[in-house]
Amino acid sequence: MTKLRSLPLKQITIDDSFWNKYTKLVPEVIIPYQWDILNDKVEDAEPSHCINNFEIAAKLKEGEFQGAVFQDTDVAKWLEAVAFSLASRPDPELEKSADEVIKLIGKAQAEDGYLNTYFTIKEPALRFTNLKEGHELYTAGHLIEAAVAYYKTTGKDEFLKIMMRFADLICSVFSEENNSKGYPGHQEIELALIKLYEVTGTKKYMELAKAFIERRGKAPNYFLEEEKTPLYKNIFPELQDYLPIYSQSHIPAREQTTAEGHAVRAVYMYCAMADLAYEYGDQELFQVCEKLWDNIVSRRMYITGGIGSSGLLERFTTDYDLPNNSNYAETCASIGLALFGRRMAQITHDGRYMDIVETALYNTVLSGIAMDGKSFFYVNPLEVWPDNCMPRTSKEHVKPVRQKWFGVACCPPNIARTLASLGEYAYFTSEDSLWVNLFISGTVKANIKGKEISVDVQTEFPHKGRVQLSIGGGSELTFTLAVRIPGYVREYSASLDKAEIKDAECQNGYLYIEVSGQSLLELEFSLPVRFLHANPLVREDSGKVAIQKGPLIYCLEEADNGGNLPAVYIDTKKPIKEEYIPELLGGTTVLTVYGKKLSDSNWKEKELYKESELIWEDKEFKAVPYCYWCNRKPGEMLVWIKELL
Ligand SMILES: [Zn+2]
Repeated sequence: MTKLRSLPLKQITIDDSFWNKYTKLVPEVIIPYQWDILNDKVEDAEPSHCINNFEIAAKLKEGEFQGAVFQDTDVAKWLEAVAFSLASRPDPELEKSADEVIKLIGKAQAEDGYLNTYFTIKEPALRFTNLKEGHELYTAGHLIEAAVAYYKTTGKDEFLKIMMRFADLICSVFSEENNSKGYPGHQEIELALIKLYEVTGTKKYMELAKAFIERRGKAPNYFLEEEKTPLYKNIFPELQDYLPIYSQSHIPAREQTTAEGHAVRAVYMYCAMADLAYEYGDQELFQVCEKLWDNIVSRRMYITGGIGSSGLLERFTTDYDLPNNSNYAETCASIGLALFGRRMAQITHDGRYMDIVETALYNTVLSGIAMDGKSFFYVNPLEVWPDNCMPRTSKEHVKPVRQKWFGVACCPPNIARTLASLGEYAYFTSEDSLWVNLFISGTVKANIKGKEISVDVQTEFPHKGRVQLSIGGGSELTFTLAVRIPGYVREYSASLDKAEIKDAECQNGYLYIEVSGQSLLELEFSLPVRFLHANPLVREDSGKVAIQKGPLIYCLEEADNGGNLPAVYIDTKKPIKEEYIPELLGGTTVLTVYGKKLSDSNWKEKELYKESELIWEDKEFKAVPYCYWCNRKPGEMLVWIKELL
């Protein structure tokens, strides 16, 4: 099959009541705010030191490196978000700032092409001596991705050339001729090198990505050998007694059948494996990707699209181990899952992958950012009791309120670049078809069979299931619109120019409809609210239900329902009331469910255990979309609710 392509972002506009709340934040709030953060101008946020580090590395000022080893990636992700944002919304001032940062990056580059402010300033003699923890290749990867995005949007190649020089150096240091056995401790550069190959046509970049994947996990383990070399210097004390499974280097990539270790590393690696499997026509590698995907989505993923069950080491654990109040489910990991799923959908033309991508985007990714765009969740639990998120406990990593910024700030800029590139998820094209994956009001232009077509999308999805697609372009052109029918939609109807479509082919989650210019395609999805159960092997969710409407998972919040939410039992046989409230959370559908709450009215103050009758209070409970939790006042939150039997 031919891989489907994402469209250039400048051909897509998004003007949608659900997504505007977030996508408009990118140019208006997040990019300027993050720019101030990078320049250490936000009071009471942890300083980033990013631009300062580049200025020191460029010898424009004196000083010490500050921040984490991968601090440069914040600049990279900011530039990538800027590039995506400029594509749909030109802004000469912003572009000028970006050009200046790119010049600064160029000045910080060493004679031989090397680029990394931590090693340049702090440990110049230790380049590439600690691949396990040094993050040099990871950081290079993010910078390469940013350079590719900036080139695609602006056509300016200064940044691209800077990163090609560094990529050339990396290719030679890690070449087979040098007998290199090295590969990155944190995967990312693999998928970036493939993107660099795609824009430059220089095959050695993709070949190095392939070598990194092939070398990974071969015995003897590279990272354990590296620890014995004279220049090796431990960076993260918590990574002593290193377990190769943490970085998916426990066995060769091709032999892996379960998602293991640090979740972000894992999914970034799977992205590159999917890309390489396609580019090299490598069926065996593709089957590995399928197995890993299946393992995640059928046994190791939260209903919100979160991954990484353990707060310790931010990692996958075992099948069905999905604790709700002590998990990690890093925002970046769900972004990586969406990137992996998108690639799998592009290669297979199978909409079921996009079901998971949609779940991750609408739930965990959006939960990661406050509706004012100024604070962020790194960890995305499904149950929070703020009082017990205490230091030096198993919930130390769980923050009951979003944080302004982090010392290790991977998630906020990752959310920004994801929101700014939403169009890449929403549509794909092939030679003769346009694929509609997500239902977002706006317009899309594509070149189909050599002719330009446009589609205007109008919808109130996910609150309502009606989607109208008005097709522009000449009526003499006919082409195929492939519209995703989400897995949660069991009933739908479709009509073309008001005539019901009865015989359209529906295959692997897409409805294929022949259309021509000036026609109107209308779809009506039934989006009832549902109570979902987890597989009984998910011990944490036994006897509980989650509430779903379309792609949105709902939760109970203390703000609507009072505290002690685990004492709530809901009656799933009673009908659910749906109400769209325009003034709540920027406009959202709120659900009222009925049930009972265990009362403590027969308990005296000093009693902890006793034989007692259960006293129930009949109550109504209000549920709001999980992605919006903690946007009013802080408090308890619960996704999996006990079911009244
Ligand atoms: Zn992150």
